[in-house]
Amino acid sequence: MHLGYLLFVKMIAYSYIRWSSALQTKGDSLTRQISKTREFCQSQSWVLDESLQPDKGVSAYRGKNIAEGPLAQFLEKLENKHIETPCVLVVEAIDRLTRAHWTEAEKIWRSIIDAGVTIASWQTGKVYSPEFMQASPVNVMMFLMELEAAHNYSDNLSKRLTSAWRKKKELAINQGKLLTRKIPGWLAIPDAKAKNDPPECFSVLKDKAKSVKFIFERYLEGAGVDTIVQNLNEKDAATFSNRSRAWAVSTVRRLLRSENVIGTLVSNRYIDGTPHADGNKIEGYYPAIVDKKVFFAVQDELSKRKTQKGSHKKVITLFTGLCKCSKCGWNMALKCGASSKNDDQLPAWAALVCSQAMRGKGCSYQTFRLQDFENAFVTAYLQLLLQIWYRPQKSRNVEKLETRKKEIEHHLENYSASIQQNEGKIPAFVLKKGAELEAELEQLENSLQNNPAPLQPYGYPYQKLQGADMLPIQKNLTNRRLVKNLLPTFIDEIQINAAKKEAVVYNLQINPVTKKRDCLKIRTTKALDEVTGEKHFFLNEKLTFFEHELFWR
Ligand SMILES: [Zn+2]
Repeated sequence: MHLGYLLFVKMIAYSYIRWSSALQTKGDSLTRQISKTREFCQSQSWVLDESLQPDKGVSAYRGKNIAEGPLAQFLEKLENKHIETPCVLVVEAIDRLTRAHWTEAEKIWRSIIDAGVTIASWQTGKVYSPEFMQASPVNVMMFLMELEAAHNYSDNLSKRLTSAWRKKKELAINQGKLLTRKIPGWLAIPDAKAKNDPPECFSVLKDKAKSVKFIFERYLEGAGVDTIVQNLNEKDAATFSNRSRAWAVSTVRRLLRSENVIGTLVSNRYIDGTPHADGNKIEGYYPAIVDKKVFFAVQDELSKRKTQKGSHKKVITLFTGLCKCSKCGWNMALKCGASSKNDDQLPAWAALVCSQAMRGKGCSYQTFRLQDFENAFVTAYLQLLLQIWYRPQKSRNVEKLETRKKEIEHHLENYSASIQQNEGKIPAFVLKKGAELEAELEQLENSLQNNPAPLQPYGYPYQKLQGADMLPIQKNLTNRRLVKNLLPTFIDEIQINAAKKEAVVYNLQINPVTKKRDCLKIRTTKALDEVTGEKHFFLNEKLTFFEHELFWR
């Protein structure tokens, strides 16, 4: 570490200024960003270099500003060592750098930081230096979270309500011009009111607004989006469009997050036809339909339920993507009872329902209990599952050798391609390196021959589950995940007739005699054996007792 350098020579800070809409160019965005950057650099004792031209009207959303423009020039100068490091790149917020998906954005910032550049945001005051990022994974997480927030246009965007936008709002109000032609489905602009300023120009369509309120109230009562959609369709609640008479899950989900309901106009930029909020908002633009308290309570609840759902989704059904409704061919959707307190536990009950029926239109709403089906399924398939599960695996060492072998073969291919291109003019180092690789390859092949993948004895696989692994799956999600991952390797499709409580499991293999997919019919029943009290199910119409209830208590 060049401590002397840091102590006596001031760091050079480059300011990167970008704004993306024509609207902002006309306004005060540039002056504001420049003066804020100067202030911030002074507070950090950095020398500000303003030689980078501001990036005008280039959207960072898809990383276009990385490929061309001043940032691209900075990156190029950095690469060609025309910029001395360590130095600082000052931006308003991390999203000014790039709004690409965080996986892409991560690559971009890593290349910048790895080159010895500190990235700093004057808006948050956060300074991400290479040393800071290396110090702890938590610091990297912090950065990534800021990136992710940028991509999602988080709440800090409301702070960026520019004067330019305010001017436009004034214009809109003074001249009665509407900022956008598209208005929420529960509002209308009657001719008589059209000359009024917003929000007075709007009329609330009462029956549609009633649907909106109903959705927010039901959600806070604890109903899920699927249930709400079903309720709406059952009672024929007014939809927003005159074309469609049925409510869809996507509409309700979008509505629950839309600030339009509390009267806020959020301006969008359209990228490939999809709207992306650009951070400009006007409160009180529309008549409010939903109370702010209710709206923000719903936002809290949305994020809470999102995480709950996320942790369950991984393990809740073994049959993700495999189950189809035998009546209409749609996917079967999952319906769960209340979840238990412990995150690692499954909900009290779960059932599969035709997703078309879940929407409340078409097909019949019938539930197929997942617990019964899983227990029957595991009993029927246990031997096969265990055989696949404990299939001998190659040792790690052999795997390593094979990976290296592939690598070398790849290199050699590249070399021979470049040799062919250069028509005989082969640099000496290429020849030397090629010979080295060939020698290594020969050695590898020898050791692979002498080191065949050891066979692990099957033993009696069932015994392996006798220990801790035999506990109900609530306490052993590992087993559950394992089984879940194995199923698509031998199961093609499961057709479910929820009314008959019947599932036909189709294997991937085609029977050589019948030329059809082999299948197994499982019919669950609540009947108990009169003598033993054991539960049973029908396997290809044959009475079978549950041998295993591995997965549910
Ligand atoms: Zn169906």
